[in-house]
Amino acid sequence: TNDIGKVEPDYVRSFQFKKILMPSTWIVIRIDGCHFHRFSDVHEFVKPNDKQALNLMNACAVAVVKEFPDIVFSYGVSDEYSFVLKKDSHFYQRQASEIVSAIVSLFTSVYITKWKDFFHKKELKYPPYFDGRAVCYPSVEILRDYLAWRQVDCHINNQYNTCFWELVKSGKSKSEAQNFLKGTQTGDKEKLLKQFGIDYHKLPAMFRQGSSIFWDKEDITMMHENEKPGGNSLKRVFVEHCNIIEPSFWAAHPTILY
Ligand code: ATP
Ligand code: ATP
Ligand code: MG
Ligand code: MG
Ligand code: MG
Ligand code: MG
Repeated sequence: TNDIGKVEPDYVRSFQFKKILMPSTWIVIRIDGCHFHRFSDVHEFVKPNDKQALNLMNACAVAVVKEFPDIVFSYGVSDEYSFVLKKDSHFYQRQASEIVSAIVSLFTSVYITKWKDFFHKKELKYPPYFDGRAVCYPSVEILRDYLAWRQVDCHINNQYNTCFWELVKSGKSKSEAQNFLKGTQTGDKEKLLKQFGIDYHKLPAMFRQGSSIFWDKEDITMMHENEKPGGNSLKRVFVEHCNIIEPSFWAAHPTILY
């Protein structure tokens, strides 16, 4: 109808559809920077790993974790972050588009507002943006397999990129470096790095393992007597660069997923 007063709200609303994420499953929202290959070039990120760019990503993720209490764990590498919501979350009635858009937009706006804190002398030349998706994982085992997949990806990409940029620094063109690395295995790459004087295992943990963010109890034995909280329940957000594939991490932090 052309007469705006006659529009039936129920009729217009009937075109909307809701994607409700499966109940009692772990919701993972993974966000990823759009065209960050270009963004990192334009903003002259240090290759292969710009530490300040990663610290900025981590600060954005901490802000997201603090804003949305249903997020129990998050893992980040390069221009991506995965946020895990607790299994019984009712955040936005588990509507995928609402959850994804709220997380992506908070992350992006914090990225822009905190930029100057991490890049004092570098101007933000244009507004970056991120996309996001939601996936449900039905068990802790599968959720941990998902996180292991992201951490393996971090390792493989970091090892490749470290070799690639060493070859480029040594005078090879980018396509020569690419051809040189074609078909090489992990062991070959470690040997190559040794030739450049690099022990892969001694590179910063943040580059090799990515960043894990979670709430946990403050270790009160480390605190001064008059700082100790009344109960033992003071929780704070931790940012660590540890192996989350091995069971020992989850054994040491049994309350994160339960
Ligand atoms: P898409 O839009 O499809 O995600 P993209 O250009 O963002 O494309 P990705 O596969 O997401 O590609 O990879 C992100 C790229 O951003 C990396 O390959 C790397 O070049 C760059 N990058 C991200 N973070 C850093 C960092 N901390 N230091 C250096 N480079 C980085
Ligand atoms: P929700 O998170 O559920 O969206 P909300 O607080 O954002 O809650 P909305 O129903 O979206 O509530 O309404 C937005 C509110 O923001 C308005 O009620 C109004 O108070 C305020 N607001 C938005 N834009 C303006 C504006 N241009 N001038 C004054 N107030 C505004
Ligand atoms: Mg992408
Ligand atoms: Mg990207
Ligand atoms: Mg990426
Ligand atoms: Mg509103």
